[in-house]
Amino acid sequence: MTRYSKRNTVSRRRFLSATILAGAMLPFAAACGKKENAGQLPDVTTSPSDCRDLSGVSAEDLAIREKLAYVNESPIPENECSNCNLYLPPTDERKCGGCMLFKGPVEAKGYCTYWAPKIEG
Ligand code: SF4
Repeated sequence: MTRYSKRNTVSRRRFLSATILAGAMLPFAAACGKKENAGQLPDVTTSPSDCRDLSGVSAEDLAIREKLAYVNESPIPENECSNCNLYLPPTDERKCGGCMLFKGPVEAKGYCTYWAPKIEG
């Protein structure tokens, strides 16, 4: 197998894993009345100090965070958002981390009951 095709295999595996996990979340999101939210990027904030500000997060997304038992500090040191397959790290356009399952900022050291190991590429 060439190096190029190995990368494609890993990318495809990552994509399928994230898709399956996000799909598994859809019934839950629908039950919360926000099915269309699953997989959307978090809102952009202007500085890292805003990343714990939930004032712009909808009641529905707050309910999803609560149902998933999201916390800003993981109780399991080896399992945190930064090594979860559903974590969206900060970018130039998005100053705070996020999650594929709900809108709003997510801490790299956070955690929820949907934590899934990151598939390294
Ligand atoms: Fe999202 Fe939970 Fe993974 Fe954090 S641990 S990135 S909140 S699924």
